[in-house]
Amino acid sequence: MDKYIESVYQSILDKDPLQKEFHQAALEVLETLEPVIEKYPVFKEHKILERIVEPERIIQFRVPWKDKNGEIQINRGYRVQYNSAIGPYKGGFRFHPTVYLGLLKFLGFEQTFKNALTTLPMGGGKGGSDFDPHGKTDAEVESFCHSFMMEMYRHIGQFTDVPAGDIGVGGREIGYLYAAYRKIRNVHGTGVLTGKGWGWGGSRIRPQATGYGNVYFCQEMLKTKDEDFKGKKVLISGSGNVAQYAAEKAMQLGAKVASMSDSSGAVHIPDGMTKEMWDYVMELKNVKRGRISEFAEKYNLEYVKGGRPWQFGGDIALPCATQNELDKKDAEALISSGVIAVGEGANMPTTPDAMSLFLEKGILFSPGKASNAGGVATSGLEMSQNSGRLFWSAEEVDKQLHGIMVNIHQTAYDTAKEFGQPGNYVLGANIAGFMKVANAMVAMGYLA
Ligand code: NDP
Repeated sequence: MDKYIESVYQSILDKDPLQKEFHQAALEVLETLEPVIEKYPVFKEHKILERIVEPERIIQFRVPWKDKNGEIQINRGYRVQYNSAIGPYKGGFRFHPTVYLGLLKFLGFEQTFKNALTTLPMGGGKGGSDFDPHGKTDAEVESFCHSFMMEMYRHIGQFTDVPAGDIGVGGREIGYLYAAYRKIRNVHGTGVLTGKGWGWGGSRIRPQATGYGNVYFCQEMLKTKDEDFKGKKVLISGSGNVAQYAAEKAMQLGAKVASMSDSSGAVHIPDGMTKEMWDYVMELKNVKRGRISEFAEKYNLEYVKGGRPWQFGGDIALPCATQNELDKKDAEALISSGVIAVGEGANMPTTPDAMSLFLEKGILFSPGKASNAGGVATSGLEMSQNSGRLFWSAEEVDKQLHGIMVNIHQTAYDTAKEFGQPGNYVLGANIAGFMKVANAMVAMGYLA
């Protein structure tokens, strides 16, 4: 690695030695920026790298709430306002017991480049809590969300910071959070949160957007090799929001969706998921909040406790659950089963050694910051509709989402080619996202 870039990376390790997910995300980006720093010395002169790795602001607070027994519980809440050079901070809330500052810094850092790639005016941010919604009653989740917003409201706003959902934060949680924001601020109709429900400020296709967008991006990658989804065996991990809609779109395109999973295990569906099975998963995960093992039981399918879908082998892999869920051993298993494309629906689901292996073997590989950008892009469209007091049809939003994903693919593809590594979407996406933010920071001077 170039000495200057290495020194920036070293300073991250020295300042925050325990933030390992952030180190991983920063290294993955920094490593690919060498040709840009060489070609445009202005970025080094303006210390863009040193500034871009440092969040503009971090907020941490106490979230007290009452459980079903009336006992007081205490969690931690966070918002990392990473970069607002090109627009208000934008990025989801994650509610999961693994949430800590290092995890949110990784997510906020990634979000900054992802949002730039969408071409919409959105900066990067991320927030959340170590609160675990699993096994909680609706009333407990509501109590937690209200307490969380009692502090969060003062840091967000349609021109400041616009949060959305992520792991553990879906339509239910956004509803409770928005209710508290409305009460405190006495306003309605602002785009302060996205992922709202249809009829109270939400956009058509927002729930579908990340999963659909991932498949649209993958479709574009496949086209470069004269391939498509028809008849392909598609492995999907997770069974939450992103996984559900990636599965639906892949099925619509004629693929055989051969797996789903959750943090307890993976299900193999050798003959491909049917519409009836998909409906069952939607009810199981979004209403009953059950486990994927119940789906396996219901349809008499193979269930591997503690397993991941990659071991089943397939043509296309769409990791849609969480970070570092596909390692080198999984990549080897996928390659030996003949995988042709890997499309990241989750953020950083592939470990660095697994990613290097895919790139080395010429497997089509899309990094999450490009291929899962459809979610935040459609959140951007929700903000536009809120500002204009408009509601667009599902067809209209889907058309715009599709256009955005085709454009992100083209940008990453062209940038990789321009910088001498055709087909390397990781490098293409990192450089294209970085250039947009970096140019804005240079234009605005040292304060940006
Ligand atoms: P959900 O909470 O709806 O679903 C998450 C899924 O991943 C669940 O099936 C969950 O299983 C599983 N999972 C979580 N942690 C683990 C783990 N440690 N090991 C195995 N499986 C796990 O979240 P989303 O679908 O919204 O998010 C999934 C990924 O996509 C995340 O990386 C998120 O950052 C990313 N993303 C989401 C966007 C969105 O619009 N929602 C936008 C862009 C990226 P279980 O229920 O057992 O925990």
